[in-house]
Amino acid sequence: MNNEQSEGVFFVETSVSELISLVVPCYNEQTTIPFFIEEILKLKKLAGCETLEVVFVNDGSTDDTLSVIRKCRADHAFVRYVSLSRNFGKEGAILAGLRAARGKWVAVMDADLQDPPMLLPEMLKAVRDEDYDCVGTRRVNRAGEPVLRSLFARAFYRLINSLSEVKLVDGARDYKLLSRKAVDALISLPENNRFSKGLYEWVGFRTKWIEFENVERVSGETKWSFWKLFKYAVEGIASFSSAPLLVSVFLGMLLSFASFIAILFLCIRQMLYHASVNGWTSMVCIIIFLSGVQLFFIGILGLYLSKVYAEVKKRPAYIVAEES
Ligand code: UDP
Ligand code: MG
Repeated sequence: MNNEQSEGVFFVETSVSELISLVVPCYNEQTTIPFFIEEILKLKKLAGCETLEVVFVNDGSTDDTLSVIRKCRADHAFVRYVSLSRNFGKEGAILAGLRAARGKWVAVMDADLQDPPMLLPEMLKAVRDEDYDCVGTRRVNRAGEPVLRSLFARAFYRLINSLSEVKLVDGARDYKLLSRKAVDALISLPENNRFSKGLYEWVGFRTKWIEFENVERVSGETKWSFWKLFKYAVEGIASFSSAPLLVSVFLGMLLSFASFIAILFLCIRQMLYHASVNGWTSMVCIIIFLSGVQLFFIGILGLYLSKVYAEVKKRPAYIVAEES
């Protein structure tokens, strides 16, 4: 306890100068946290990484993650935690962690060691000596990932980059090191339905990219099902682009114009030749097709409306149940 208190004071004194905070969102990571702490202990021995605090965010885990974190907190004074009242998703957990972090530099890192902690010294060098405010990491390959998932991920990056003004880097991880300036900018954004990958780009700042080979999880399983990823991708596009709405306006105009020409043609034909209209089947096909197009775009409208609705309600991105 004494040790903890003195380290607490030490944190306050250094928070302005040298403290590095690691924000680690955890959802059912009871088996991975011990491996993670082991890596961090190794990291803390390296020059320049001694002043490191870890902020675990327990994102409503249903296993023993919270007690594992509490135990880490008891064993190591550099560990702090925030525990959310339920599972709010990684985005909410990251925001909670960024708000709790006190460091001059803040890194966001997964608990499963897929974001290698040993890259941190290199990242720190960029913010300390090379005047960057943000260091991002990107996987150069997706080895070990299901083929279908990689395929869809690539398609998503191509789509969002062609639709949105904010450009996302393919393979970019959420693993980032940010300066206090960048963190303050991020947490000052008032939106509650957050798509971090886009927000990091949106706030700007000089960013250095570090590349690494994909690493597989040390233990446990990925928390992202195909459906969850699909929802995440749609969220991302709706958060950072209104191009789908423009497409619907354009298509609507095009179809109206075409139908206008068609009506004109039919009227003239009727007047000149008194030709009766046949082709019931093709008519039904056209009606079904157009109804489909309409429903699709009403769906897109609904998507944006639901985002507005969610923001208007002003519900927070997470609720804290317990803090160290
Ligand atoms: N995570 C979270 N809340 C969630 C899902 C995931 O905090 O609802 C955390 C998880 O504990 C891990 C990180 O986000 O530290 C990345 O999750 P995961 O490894 O499952 O994703 P992947 O690496 O497969 O993309
Ligand atoms: Mg992972």
